[in-house]
Amino acid sequence: MKKPIRIVNGVCSSVNPAGCFDNVCRWIEAEKKSPRIENGPRSVLILGCSGGYGLAARIATAFGAGARTLGVSYERPPTVRKHGSPGWYNNQAFDMASAEAGLFSETLLGDAFSNATREAVIDRVKRNGMGAFDLVVYSLASPARLDPSTGEIYRSVIKPVGEKLVGSTLDVATGNITEISLEPATAEEIAATVKVMGGEDWKLWIEALQAADILANNFKTIALSYIGPDATHAIYRSGTLGKAKEHLEATAFEINELIARNQGRAYVSVNRALVTRASVMIPIMSAYLCALNKVLKAKGLNENCHQQMSRLLRERLYNNDSQVATDNQGRIRLDDWEMREDVQRETAEILERLTPDNVRELTDWEGCCDELFGLFGLSPEDRA
Ligand code: NAD
Repeated sequence: MKKPIRIVNGVCSSVNPAGCFDNVCRWIEAEKKSPRIENGPRSVLILGCSGGYGLAARIATAFGAGARTLGVSYERPPTVRKHGSPGWYNNQAFDMASAEAGLFSETLLGDAFSNATREAVIDRVKRNGMGAFDLVVYSLASPARLDPSTGEIYRSVIKPVGEKLVGSTLDVATGNITEISLEPATAEEIAATVKVMGGEDWKLWIEALQAADILANNFKTIALSYIGPDATHAIYRSGTLGKAKEHLEATAFEINELIARNQGRAYVSVNRALVTRASVMIPIMSAYLCALNKVLKAKGLNENCHQQMSRLLRERLYNNDSQVATDNQGRIRLDDWEMREDVQRETAEILERLTPDNVRELTDWEGCCDELFGLFGLSPEDRA
């Protein structure tokens, strides 16, 4: 009898390499159909290139602007006994499609938090002729970070800050709703999460690339953040992850001072909540995500990672206006459709009525579940 395919803690018991290839090809095809990104980047570094927003940015800059891309990610190649991680197959698919299209691409597997990986990137750029970077995309999502200066390992936690949180969470892989209760994070846990997901490593990257003189004049760098509505604030924006994102957002100002001599600009883009390997691990967010998708789909406003990155590049970063549109805190807002008043009102109404019995009827759980298994290249037929 066939064993059921399960996803536990973001890890799936199966991966379909051909499905991963199809996913990458679908985004590439969509990108090829979009208008070219005029005056887009020519040489791009993507940190966290193998999935979610990083992969989407890589596809959009390569196939939409013709950029040479260097990607870094932490993925596991297959062995004789075990399949590789989905991101490994995504990288393969991207590199093959780039080669077919005559686009330069190179992909490094390594810990982006380490100085060794920074040195490897610098070494590659000096030898491979791809030229100084005019865009650096920082799109890492990691549970842990080894601080290269002290050797200490920090682990991020997903917890509320200040007060205990009690709420219901939806397992996107099964559709089951359970009650959870999370104690508030300690000061140490908050600091560790900021160390992993805050802006320290982003700044170390820019400092290293600047010192190696491989940042082009007028280059841009972008990191990604999330805010979300009141319903998710306790677990996200006012929680440990939000503290890390506040740090990331503040780091953009520090980087801007650092790169003034390159006439460079650092931005943080606040993106919409989407099903990725990182986001489904966040309790409470998952129920919100399934409700949100139902509303966005009904209104024709649902975007995937690729569509978000396409909008970021075409309508914000390279829209030929001298100024990139930001909010009053200097952040680019790509969560504008998610945060629309009508979208939020209707999503909140769904969440208020949500019970274990009406998940399928009220939310887009099925769509989100397909997306989640789809990240491992698995179609509904593969799971049947
Ligand atoms: P993802 O899990 O799809 O991708 C994470 C990437 O980081 C992968 O390429 C992975 O290989 C890489 N990575 C992780 N640890 C690494 C390490 N030590 N060294 C090298 N590479 C490493 O995640 P995602 O959801 O696309 O998240 C990317 C960014 O976008 C994060 O900063 C996240 O907070 C932000 N964001 C996500 C959402 C969402 O809903 N998914 C919304 C807004 C912002």
